[in-house]
Amino acid sequence: MEAKFPNKISIGIFPTPIHKLENISRLLGTNVYIKRDDMSGLALGGNKLRKLEYLLADAKAKGAELVFTTGGAQSNHAMLTAAACRKLGMECILILKKRGVCEKVGNQLLNSLMDIDVRFMDTDSYDDIYAEMDRVGEAFGRPYYKIPCGGSNALGSLGYVDCVKEISRQGMDFDHIICAEGSGGTMAGVALGAMLYAPGAKVTGMMVDTDPFDEITPALMKGAAEILGLDIEINDQNFALRDMCGPGYAIPSEEGNAAVALLAREEGLFLDPVYTGKAFAGLLAMAKEGAFKPTDNVLFIHTGGAGGLFALG
Ligand SMILES: *Cc1c(COP(=O)(O)O)cnc(C)c1O
Repeated sequence: MEAKFPNKISIGIFPTPIHKLENISRLLGTNVYIKRDDMSGLALGGNKLRKLEYLLADAKAKGAELVFTTGGAQSNHAMLTAAACRKLGMECILILKKRGVCEKVGNQLLNSLMDIDVRFMDTDSYDDIYAEMDRVGEAFGRPYYKIPCGGSNALGSLGYVDCVKEISRQGMDFDHIICAEGSGGTMAGVALGAMLYAPGAKVTGMMVDTDPFDEITPALMKGAAEILGLDIEINDQNFALRDMCGPGYAIPSEEGNAAVALLAREEGLFLDPVYTGKAFAGLLAMAKEGAFKPTDNVLFIHTGGAGGLFALG
C-alpha cells in the first residue's frame, strides 16, 4: 500500500537533524534523541513549516493571492505563515485572537519586522474569525485562502506523515516518538506516519490545550489517510495521549518551566514554555514512571516555539 502524497511547495530546509541528548540520556537511564524541527529553515523554524508546504501549495494551485490565518497573539503558526508568504511573494493577513501577549515582543516583534498586516479580534471563537476572513476576503475581490488555526486540517497533517518518513530514512529505529499536541495536526501526522513508516514506535502526544484530542487526532488521521489514498483502520490504539496542559493553554506550568530550564542547563538547548517545555516535561514524567527501558531509543520532536520564549520566558 503506497501512500500518494499531493504536491507540496519547498519552504523549509529538510531533512532536519536528529541527534542524541547525551546528558539527558545519562540522567534518565535511556537513550533520548531529538528531531530538530526547530531548525526547519525559515524564520525561527518550527513544525508549522512542514504543514505550510502542503497548505500553501494548495493555495497557489487554487490561484489564491491572499492568505489568511489565525491563532493567539503569540502564535508561532501565524508568524511562520507570514514568513512563508513573504518568501513566496504572497499577501498575508493575520487575524488573531486578542488573547495572550499582544505587545510588540516575541512573535509580534517578528511580524512587525516582516511588516505584516496583523489584526486583533476580541473573541474566544474561531468561527467569528473565519467569518471576518470571509468578509475581508470578499472585499479584496480576488481569490483568497483560509488556513485554520495551527494549520491543523487533514492536508496540513501530511507534513508530519512526511516527517516520520524522513525519520525512517535517517538510519535509526525508535521505540517511542513523542511530541506536543496543541491543535492536533502534528500528532495526527506523526501517528499516521508511524503506522506507515515506523510501526515499532509507540507514539505519545503531550496535550498542551484542553480540546478533545481523543476525537480530533483520529479524525485528522482519517482525513489524511483519505488524501493519501490509504485504506487503513484507525482507532485509539494507534497513539497515546497525556495531559500536560497544567494551568491552561499558553500559561506556563511549573513542570514545563522546569523542563525548559533542564534542557538549557544540561544540553544548551532551548525549549519554549507553551509547547515543547510542557511536552518534554511529559517525557520526563514517563521516564520517572519507568515507561522506557535502558535499551530504548526515545525520539522527542522539537517543534520550535522560540518566539514564545521571548514573550513569556
Ligand atoms: C503549533 C505548535 C505545536 C503543536 O502542533 P499542533 O500541530 O498545533 O498540535 C507544538 N510546538 C510548537 C512550538 C508549535 O508552535
